[in-house]
Amino acid sequence: MKKGEAFYEGKAKILYATDNPDLIIQHFKDDATAFNAQKRGTIREKGIVNNKISEVLFRLLEKEGVPTHFVERLNDREMLVRRLKIIPVEVIVRNLVAGSMAQRLGLEEGTPLARPVLEHCYKSDPLGDPMVTESHILALGWASEAELQQIQALAFRVNEILKEFFDRRNLILVDFKIEFGLHRGKLYVGDEICPDTCRLWEKGSLEKLDKDRFRRDLGKVEDAYQEVCRRVCG
Ligand code: UDP
Repeated sequence: MKKGEAFYEGKAKILYATDNPDLIIQHFKDDATAFNAQKRGTIREKGIVNNKISEVLFRLLEKEGVPTHFVERLNDREMLVRRLKIIPVEVIVRNLVAGSMAQRLGLEEGTPLARPVLEHCYKSDPLGDPMVTESHILALGWASEAELQQIQALAFRVNEILKEFFDRRNLILVDFKIEFGLHRGKLYVGDEICPDTCRLWEKGSLEKLDKDRFRRDLGKVEDAYQEVCRRVCG
């Protein structure tokens, strides 16, 4: 496997081509941003931790029958993944009210939900990822009706799998964001699944062990990522 040119650099990751057109290398950086990149910083060894956590979670999803772009972890900061045509929609699943949902609806963080909530946002940094409805997604041709149905079913399934997995590690999966993409006509979960993209609260104390420690200047950011890594990666 030969590493080629970097063809994309985002806030937390760099993507490299390989000599196989079907495969790319996903490199995890320590850089962190929040509030639509108005807040910037680094979280020491975040890239290493997120690479490892994502590996474990992608392997878990695959074992449970959810297709993911993960192929193998190459080293501390890199994993080999299928090249996807990313659907420009961030899918958020929530088990408890937090973050933007708490703000938007004037609810207290931690308010329970009678059933999981699914939201879609249009992936656009300049626009700040605005929330969109199914209608927008279909009318703008971002996904077909069949794809959208599959995306939603997979997102809820991923929630059930991850909720149970984290619960066994004394963590509450409050909410998370996932992305999907197409590879040779088939849908896969892409991107990463880690404390940057999930809210994780310690059972009992409700201590935050995720990127909210960085967003909200709660301190012990590195410790939180390392702690999640210990529990997830064993
Ligand atoms: N999230 C993410 N990337 C984004 C927006 C949200 O990974 O661009 C994750 C976030 O970490 C949380 C969930 O999606 O686990 C719900 O985020 P929310 O809508 O509450 O937004 P936030 O409060 O992060 O602005």
